[in-house]
Amino acid sequence: MEQKLVLKAHGKINLGLDVVRRLENGYHEVRMIMQSVELADIVTIKKSAEDNIVIRADQKTIPCDERNLAYKAAKLMKETYGISDGVEIFLEKHIPVAAGMAGGSADCAAVLKGMDELFCLGLTLEELQKTGVKLGADVPYCLMGGCALSEGIGEVLTGLKEPPECVLLLVKPDINVSTKYVYRNLKLETLERHPDIDGMMRDIENGALESLCEKLENVLESVTGKQYPVIGKIEHVMKEEGALQAVMSGSGPTVFGIFKETETARKAMNKIREKGLAREVYISGFFHGKNNP
Ligand code: ATP
Repeated sequence: MEQKLVLKAHGKINLGLDVVRRLENGYHEVRMIMQSVELADIVTIKKSAEDNIVIRADQKTIPCDERNLAYKAAKLMKETYGISDGVEIFLEKHIPVAAGMAGGSADCAAVLKGMDELFCLGLTLEELQKTGVKLGADVPYCLMGGCALSEGIGEVLTGLKEPPECVLLLVKPDINVSTKYVYRNLKLETLERHPDIDGMMRDIENGALESLCEKLENVLESVTGKQYPVIGKIEHVMKEEGALQAVMSGSGPTVFGIFKETETARKAMNKIREKGLAREVYISGFFHGKNNP
């Protein structure tokens, strides 16, 4: 039996993010178009004879204890499936942290899948998603990956066709955004516009990249973008340098720009660096594969 697994945990961006309504339990009903990106954490999971969970990471900023989503995933799998062995997990972080790219949820999904394989549980994707949603609304999507419409609180998923190839520039300005704060300060009643999610799905189906790019929109930008003008500045530079579109992902602060060519994306990246708008910048692309099938 395999004793160690090395998995890729891909980050995501939201091509579209709409909030439909606030639910009584404090959650929000959303309609989002999720897309995996090539940028991924590397998650190594090793079986250990001792009945405990050890988390290590190559970044000091993330908690390596029970607060880590990878820890929570391992604990839940141990409890749910009566696993008495322990696991050692190493997180090689590449996805920017607290960035609106679901880095923690991606690691969490990788651990759920990894433990399923490591302990020969034979769980289906649906079973893993049912466990995963207990740990976070984005986890069921991260287990699936690719392009998907995400509804409900994020757990009702419909797989979509791959959008056309393009070059992505991911830029995370050096600020910390609290997802809770953003949702709490979203003024749903006074929002003047909502993203055309259905139109975006049609464009994806038709492979119409430019038309899709015209529609990219995120309602949470009305909160995060107002609080942090750097987001708008980054978008402005990206568009000036030839991006088809530039939008914030999730609750932010990461901004992604969609380009046709790597060279143009690179020039925009250099401009953003020169202007001192952000240090964490990545050239990436859509990831079309499934997350560790
Ligand atoms: P989302 O897009 O789902 O809102 P995010 O990209 O904004 O997530 P994460 O990178 O998942 O945010 O991290 C948010 C916080 O969660 C971090 O500040 C960190 O303290 C904590 N955290 C827990 N587990 C992890 C993990 N495996 N990787 C990164 N952060 C983690």
